[in-house]
Amino acid sequence: MRKSRIITGIGISAIALLALTACNSGAPGADPSDGGDGGTAAEQPWEVATDVTLEGSPTFDAMTERGGVVIGVKNDQPNLGFEDATTGDRSGFDVDVARWIAASLGFDEEQIEYVTIPSANREQALVNGDIDYYVGTYSITDSRKEQIDFAGPYFITGQGLLVAADNEDINGPDDLAGKVVCSVTGSTSLQRIRDEYPDAETTEFETYSACIEQLKNGQVDAITTDEAILAGYVQQDPEELKLAGEPFSEERYGVGIAKGDTALQEHINTLFTDGGDIWQAIFDANLAESGIEGEQPAVD
Ligand code: GLU
Repeated sequence: MRKSRIITGIGISAIALLALTACNSGAPGADPSDGGDGGTAAEQPWEVATDVTLEGSPTFDAMTERGGVVIGVKNDQPNLGFEDATTGDRSGFDVDVARWIAASLGFDEEQIEYVTIPSANREQALVNGDIDYYVGTYSITDSRKEQIDFAGPYFITGQGLLVAADNEDINGPDDLAGKVVCSVTGSTSLQRIRDEYPDAETTEFETYSACIEQLKNGQVDAITTDEAILAGYVQQDPEELKLAGEPFSEERYGVGIAKGDTALQEHINTLFTDGGDIWQAIFDANLAESGIEGEQPAVD
């Protein structure tokens, strides 16, 4: 069920529009009265499953006993994993993927507890059993697979650069020599700059939003991480921020799960493979407006 489609933000489905009002108010096309059959569409494109059984999954057994699911997410990445500071509402592509998985296991929104976990702490949270699974711009890598397993991939993006809108000097990672670039502790983004562009000076924080503050204050010259993340910040502040150059890696996002829980891994992979139009609806509702292009990848 591969799909190839470039989204312009025009002609978005009613489902997408409803979801957009939660996370992108003010964005073009975000007004449900703009189109579709306004208000008649279901709020979520998935249904909560009933009478679910999942043989041999310790994670599912724990969820069932608890009567709820604990999901690790990000909270400061617009369009991906975001928490509205005023309402506490969670939104974004990753959050919706997390909800879709929960629904497939029989849990509705009231039964979900979200835990915000920064990049550096993801493996440990899964190893400790603090969360049932993690959905938050989490690249599948061999070194992470030593501690945990991944379902997916469910999205592919690439590492990019974010600079001030008036910056003309930085147009790719080779231009970072002698410049200060900000990224996040424990991310593939930071590691790649250190490994492959050692002439760049790096500074690291726990979150990408902290890097945004640094860039706006003129403390750093650039921010590096996945373009899907950076595009969300540009969308929020196009007067001040812009993407620079082309993506220079392939980041394959997976759902982090406890090592050895192959029953859960297979359940999630089957959900992605057999999900029909749900992936596209989630993508359209959350990521299309930022100009990010995407198609659903085949699972591993
Ligand atoms: N996808 C990259 C990673 O997993 C960067 C984004 C992040 O820190 O979550 O390390």
